[in-house]
Amino acid sequence: MLQEIKQQIARIKGLGATYVDARWYPFEETQGLFMWNGNLKDNTYSRESGIGTRVLYHGAWGFSASSDLGDLAGLFSRAFDNARIAATRVTFPVRLADKEALQAKFASPCKIDPFEVPLADKVSFLKKMDEQLDQKGVEQRISNLDFIRKQIVFVDSEETEIEKRITEVFSRLEVHGKDAQGVTHERKWRVGQQGAGTRGWESIDEELFSQQSSRIVQELNQVLAADDCPKDERSVILLPGIMWLQTHETIGHPLELDRILGYELSFAGGSLVTLNDFGTLRYGSEKLTARADATLPNSPGSFGYDDDGTPCRNNLLIDKGILVGAITGRQMVEEANTKAGRKIFAGSGGCNRATAFYRVPIERMTNINVDPGQDGTLDDIVKGTERGVVLDGERSWSIGSNREQFHFATEIGWLVQDGEIVKVVKNPTYKGDTLRFWNSLSAVGDESTWQVGFVDNCGKGQPNQIMQMGHAVPVCRFDRVTIGE
Ligand SMILES: [Zn+2]
Repeated sequence: MLQEIKQQIARIKGLGATYVDARWYPFEETQGLFMWNGNLKDNTYSRESGIGTRVLYHGAWGFSASSDLGDLAGLFSRAFDNARIAATRVTFPVRLADKEALQAKFASPCKIDPFEVPLADKVSFLKKMDEQLDQKGVEQRISNLDFIRKQIVFVDSEETEIEKRITEVFSRLEVHGKDAQGVTHERKWRVGQQGAGTRGWESIDEELFSQQSSRIVQELNQVLAADDCPKDERSVILLPGIMWLQTHETIGHPLELDRILGYELSFAGGSLVTLNDFGTLRYGSEKLTARADATLPNSPGSFGYDDDGTPCRNNLLIDKGILVGAITGRQMVEEANTKAGRKIFAGSGGCNRATAFYRVPIERMTNINVDPGQDGTLDDIVKGTERGVVLDGERSWSIGSNREQFHFATEIGWLVQDGEIVKVVKNPTYKGDTLRFWNSLSAVGDESTWQVGFVDNCGKGQPNQIMQMGHAVPVCRFDRVTIGE
């Protein structure tokens, strides 16, 4: 098969294409198990295989994909025809940043393949979790397991050949209950990176899940008995369970370069950032250093090589508060440099990914991380806070179309007075303007507060592409934030 694909790439190149690539998926499998109040509501399995090819001709892309591998010549010719037709009406000719030719393999770290674990073991794990969540105050119990396993063979006309095997495990526990006014509250926990280990079935560690299940039940009951979060202006201390979303929505999405160039406007929105901002915009306080780091071991945002065939990189996005980088692929860096009239980007950041063989790669978050800081542990940060609230767990979110403002509700809050936690509050919310908020960052927790969380459902693109990624974030404190509105 690989030889036939290479022959087709050479044939289309011979017809005048400047670039041709193919992503062949021998297989992609998903399995999802969802338990609700002791009942197995979903047990889904899917398997697909096929090939997608991109052809660049006179500055225009053509794409074609099929699960039928019986007519490769027809498939590649269709992509070439699409590119030829698109080339007659291209407005900004596509150029690709240079990259090295390479032959490589990548496998995400996995000891026990989750697809080889018997279904009965998975169901019995969920049953056990469900029983542990079945406590006073809990009206709805959710536990789930989601697995992905895929093999991707990438070949292009620039002598690159990459084989990737990706295995992903996602799982969460969630409890809901009603307070005295009949309002529903929730508390949840998702499995993330545990140390520098692996993320196969072995990451479904019963002891860890049991500890977390009793914690979320206890915290739900505290919320059910709590007073409302006051309307106020205070410091907010974000735990990683909400800090990941803050980072995702107000650093990750606005720094996708295609969005900055206006390509997502009609669908998911644009960005507050312009090309003029790179190198000068003060995005946050000096305590903020953020990066798109796809070299972090053991995360869904680390995948070896992107779908342009570029090796994964650790890209600095914000350096001590100043905007210096973006989430980039080969095409958009060239377009951005040309439109800006200066070389903002030295090359692709290796962030182009497609959700399936039948979608084109676009710029996606990898691991969008905030570096740990020098302000100690969570306790240290609380001790140094006069009037604040500690927040955790996303409950709802709304974000401006260019990511310039946001409003988040969280599952739980702990009021801080004179350096001490005084009580739990329910219905906490906070809001802000993205730049003003990040500029009010006044404390960043050390390594002990830094956690790698996984995201399995980020949507982007048209048609929509669901993507997996990670966020490694510390505890962070922001000052003078509006809460409770
Ligand atoms: Zn997203």
